[in-house]
Amino acid sequence: MKRLTILVLLFAGILFNLAAQPRQKKALFVIVDGIPADVIEKVETPALDTIAKTGAYMRAYVGGEKDGYSQTPTISAVGYNSLLTGTWVNKHNVWDNDIAAPNYSYETIFRFFKNQYPDKKTAIFSTWLDNRTKLVGEGLPQTDAIKLDYHYDSLEYDTIRFPHDSESYIHMIDEEVVNAAASYIRKETPDLSWVYLEYTDDMGHRYGDSEKFYDAVKMMDDQIRRLWEAIQFRQRNFEEDWVIYITTDHGRGAETGKNHGGQSDRERSTWIVTSAKNVNPWFLKNPPGIVDIMPSIASWLDVKIPTEQLKELDGISLTGKVSVAGLNATYADKKLTITWKAIDKKAQAKIWLATTNEFKTGGRDNYQMVKQVPLSVGKTTVDVSKWPSGFYKIVLETPQGFMNRWVIVK
Ligand SMILES: [Zn+2]
Repeated sequence: MKRLTILVLLFAGILFNLAAQPRQKKALFVIVDGIPADVIEKVETPALDTIAKTGAYMRAYVGGEKDGYSQTPTISAVGYNSLLTGTWVNKHNVWDNDIAAPNYSYETIFRFFKNQYPDKKTAIFSTWLDNRTKLVGEGLPQTDAIKLDYHYDSLEYDTIRFPHDSESYIHMIDEEVVNAAASYIRKETPDLSWVYLEYTDDMGHRYGDSEKFYDAVKMMDDQIRRLWEAIQFRQRNFEEDWVIYITTDHGRGAETGKNHGGQSDRERSTWIVTSAKNVNPWFLKNPPGIVDIMPSIASWLDVKIPTEQLKELDGISLTGKVSVAGLNATYADKKLTITWKAIDKKAQAKIWLATTNEFKTGGRDNYQMVKQVPLSVGKTTVDVSKWPSGFYKIVLETPQGFMNRWVIVK
């Protein structure tokens, strides 16, 4: 072949490849600390509003089921880990900011993602080191020594650059973290990344509901603007489609706004802003939990969560079909009464039952299918006299996925 012909063929081949290449999907999630829903709705946040216009703004909640087995403290690291694992504290076991003994059997979005796509890039930009070293558990044997491709964190240990007696040192760190994230996104385009910003909570603790706290929220909004512009830059100039989820880890007490950790409405009341275009309208009226963000990101990035783990997730994707809600179960007289709200009236449901919790220690539970019913019935009873136990795990399976519920027999 003549050299010219080869060159022409090569060029045509490149063009064909460019045209055929699907757009790469990327995800960024951001936790901005300790901003109750009423505050985010009151303070001007033009960047969040812009993002919500392309996607959605939702009121949301943290804290698991109030007074139920999944009740979860409205404390920072507890909330972050609910986002990362899609489970409440009864599973992930991070009860406070000490992060004493996370249960790594409940894997983070980073592990699911890296298992499936070892060559894709992950990154953390954070004003708190523990997010990477303890919650994600980088390098630990329990997490199969997961390694992120990039991190920008631990500045809080640099007391020379960021003297802790300065009231704004956390803000200075947040600024560094955001600028590092925006610049890394523009240049290196990580596939899955997490930005964590702390200053809002710091001001909330110091001043409670006050102009200083609201100013911190405005500063946060400007930081989100920079991240959003970096994403826009990638989408304009490269074959990439991005999604961003922004949320907070807890609200604040109603009295002064200084504290959090309890189960009051305002401490539990949070929000989610996303650019995702296909949020199910169900969630605009029925506030999602922080645990719903992880499956949403997994769905966007085509992460296939294995069935055994899906049966454990407490969240469902905000962008998928919602076929069922409000699964509940009670025990009396050797019978389980299981109820739910059927949204998809045509679907069939399978009910699975296990009396063990081997999953908690890395094992497998032996689920039995105990019933198959039309979802529309909304209620069924299961005679469990054959399976006497102080503990039941119930899984409701529909064509859309799984929903689970524990029963602890008193
Ligand atoms: Zn917090």
